[in-house]
Amino acid sequence: MEVLEEIPSRVYRFGDKVADGNSKMKNLLGGKGANLAEMCAIGIPVPPGFTITTEVCTEYNELGKETVLKRIKKDVEKAVENIENIMGSTFGDIENPLLISVRSGARVSMPGMMDTVLNLGLNDEVVKGLAIKTNNERFAWDSYRRFIQMYGGVVLGMKPKSKDDIDPFEEIMEHLKEKRKIQLDTQFTIQDLKDLIYDFKDAVKKRTGHDFPTDPWQQLWGAIIAVFNSWNGGRAIYYRKMNGYPANWGTAVNVQAMVYGNMGENSGTGVCFTRDAGTGENVFNGEYLINAQGEDVVAGVRTPQQITKLGSKRWAKLAKIDEIERIEKYPSLEELMPIIYTQLHEYQGILEKHYLDMQDMEFTIQDGKLWILQTRNGKRTGAAMVKIAIDLLKEGSIEEKEALLRIEPNKLDELLHPVFDPVALKRVNIIAQGLPASPGAATGQIVFFADEASKFRNTILTRIETSPEDLEGMNLAKGILTARGGMTSHAAVVARGMGKCCISGAGALIIDYKNRTMTVDGKEYHEGDWISLNGSTGNIIEGKVATSEPELSGEFGEIMKLADKYATMKVRTNADSPKDAKVARNFGAKGIGLTRTEHMFFEVDRIKAMREMILADTVKGRRNALEDLLPMQRSDFEGIFEAMQGLPVTIRLLDPPLHEFVPHQLATQKELAEEMHISLQAVKNKVSELQEFNPMLGHRGCRLGNTYPEITEMQTRAIIEAALNLKEKGIEVKPEIMVPLVGTLNEFLEQEKIIRSTANKIFEEREDTIDYLVGTMIEIPRAALLADSIAKHADFFSFGTNDLTQLTFGYSRDDIGKFLPIYLEKGILTVDPFEVLDQEGVGQLVKMGTEKGRAVKPDLKVGICGEHGGEPSSVEFCYTTGMNYVSCSPFRVPIARLASAQAAIKGTL
Ligand code: PEP
Ligand code: MG
Repeated sequence: MEVLEEIPSRVYRFGDKVADGNSKMKNLLGGKGANLAEMCAIGIPVPPGFTITTEVCTEYNELGKETVLKRIKKDVEKAVENIENIMGSTFGDIENPLLISVRSGARVSMPGMMDTVLNLGLNDEVVKGLAIKTNNERFAWDSYRRFIQMYGGVVLGMKPKSKDDIDPFEEIMEHLKEKRKIQLDTQFTIQDLKDLIYDFKDAVKKRTGHDFPTDPWQQLWGAIIAVFNSWNGGRAIYYRKMNGYPANWGTAVNVQAMVYGNMGENSGTGVCFTRDAGTGENVFNGEYLINAQGEDVVAGVRTPQQITKLGSKRWAKLAKIDEIERIEKYPSLEELMPIIYTQLHEYQGILEKHYLDMQDMEFTIQDGKLWILQTRNGKRTGAAMVKIAIDLLKEGSIEEKEALLRIEPNKLDELLHPVFDPVALKRVNIIAQGLPASPGAATGQIVFFADEASKFRNTILTRIETSPEDLEGMNLAKGILTARGGMTSHAAVVARGMGKCCISGAGALIIDYKNRTMTVDGKEYHEGDWISLNGSTGNIIEGKVATSEPELSGEFGEIMKLADKYATMKVRTNADSPKDAKVARNFGAKGIGLTRTEHMFFEVDRIKAMREMILADTVKGRRNALEDLLPMQRSDFEGIFEAMQGLPVTIRLLDPPLHEFVPHQLATQKELAEEMHISLQAVKNKVSELQEFNPMLGHRGCRLGNTYPEITEMQTRAIIEAALNLKEKGIEVKPEIMVPLVGTLNEFLEQEKIIRSTANKIFEEREDTIDYLVGTMIEIPRAALLADSIAKHADFFSFGTNDLTQLTFGYSRDDIGKFLPIYLEKGILTVDPFEVLDQEGVGQLVKMGTEKGRAVKPDLKVGICGEHGGEPSSVEFCYTTGMNYVSCSPFRVPIARLASAQAAIKGTL
């Protein structure tokens, strides 16, 4: 690759097989800019242009417009000159004008979240030149009309702010259509377009107080600033938060020569993928429209045609269109423009080989010449992500470690959700079919507006088409259904990115927003009616459909196997019942890291005995009640041990405050008094006696076991007897008894004494023994500080990062909801510390606790059982801390297994 002599620092040029930047510079040039530079350098025909760096966006946010424009002015002027030289036309020239596009481009793709201006450089004079140059007057005036509309909306702030506001430009157009008794934009005459432009400019003057800018340079500076501003627009902020992208990344601005897909029947535009983004299947696919601009394909206004013949035939089958009609009305690009198709096919091959990943490309055919507008690693569903990684591995394109690094751990979550039960699916009433835009199963109640997506617990957002404004509602809905649009429509692309079930282009649906109805084959469905979507087949089903559990099979199973090959830190699960333990074991858990025994006490048949124990005034009374609880606990433990046979099981002694077990409502207090043959007053007295000002810091954890040692005795007995019972049956059991909420060494020693003496007593009674460990949770900062002295006695540590976070930040776990949203909004916190481990603060305690513990006991077993144990970045931190295992909820086990493998791979790279 040839490099231009003088590399500018704020503006990077590309064009005609030469580029200042390359694909490694994503942080500086944004994903789009870096790829445009790279594509150019490898010989792909890209319209020439330049990228203003993301750093300039940050400069703009800090220093403001004037300073920034001064800093980039010279470089931008030079870069425009470079485009002019390559294209052989001049920006602002009346006879041979160069028109340009101005687009955003952050380091990660944020589809539709920021602003774009096309056709920039037009004014009343230039438009005439364009008409002569292209010999297409209609095209020239239509481009000018589109430009004013877009510039007015994006740069001059005339976009409607809510769904109730009217777009001033649309209003003018609708008005003219009514007057002229026409329906489509394409029916406007050249004179109509000229009239529209006149009225548009008038509307701009009225709304902004200024004339529409006629100087192309003024237009360009305005558009650049507007793109920077869109980084801090509502949609972009929401998208950043949803994905955890920091605000200081900024967006780059890409300025490029315009090429036109709407110059007649020999022009067109489209989007294509090197593999199927929904399923991962290795088939080239995509959609295009003849005589159209890029946004027409994604806007879902016209139903696009398929690129390949195979895709076209598949589509026609779903759309119930016969072969004759297909060939006549909807031919594939392969059939319609075979030479262009061959070139496109060649470029997609080059690009996938170059980037070694599935590419999502945009292209335009201008008067018979193919231009590639952009390429990026395509967004895909969780299933496609896994299949593509495994396929690329099998094809020899990438290595095992790389295949694992290609998987986003959190995206595996999609594969762990229930699917429609195949038996239930046989009996359903399919009311219509659309395109299987994003696979999965969704059942919910119909809503027609994005801002009403949480009106019911489970909703299906049902729209004619979606737009970027609908993002939040799409995220909240269980599934998305659109009447228009193809596989690359906004709805389809965004849903796939979110891993949300989506059916698009279901042409049989007649959606009436005003009356909130959806009509299919004459039958009317209303808001609130239940429907189900099968995103894998495109079937729209009436009513609810039962679901069944997913399995770790096929490519998913292969990825997991590969993960275990590289992971050194184990993954256990937090499970309180034999059922959860089995689910987790099927998901590959290598033991249990936390069984919260209190959950067993809450079950209806046990709460009575528990209450009797709490209400008892004497040790004897308490022991009697505990006697009743013993067999129940023992059988629970037996079930869990059996499900986890051969693997370690950590059981934690009782933790929650006792007042959680007593009734607080009068009616239930009365019931309890009657059942226990005591007075209502006695119950009330006990309830108020147990009331605490700060239960999270109150009588819980080992404080319970130390004040009521008989509870620890009973629980130890249940654990050890269960273990011995299974041993008798030949089942291998590895119990680990865990003491919660230890803050001082003596708290632990006191509990350890009770546990060991109870166990010894049982060994004598049964004339048999079993190996077991006694360890502690490190969840109080003081325990982390004194970890060395505790480690002398404890067999293992398990970091309870839920409480450790609570106590380190001083944020109550139960009350953080009151201020967290505001903290996140203001950027005081960037993430919820109860979800993502605070490595900077809480992490120091984890590190210190581990190091201090291992300093006195080098082989001390250390794990984590707080919620963070299933969160990928926290898992990586645990790996770097040297933990033996992480423990998380059953459905996060595959995610943690993968994150553990990735951490190990990154650690050795
Ligand atoms: C913890 O505090 O991290 C923990 C696992 O215990 P719990 O959430 O039950 O308090
Ligand atoms: Mg805890």
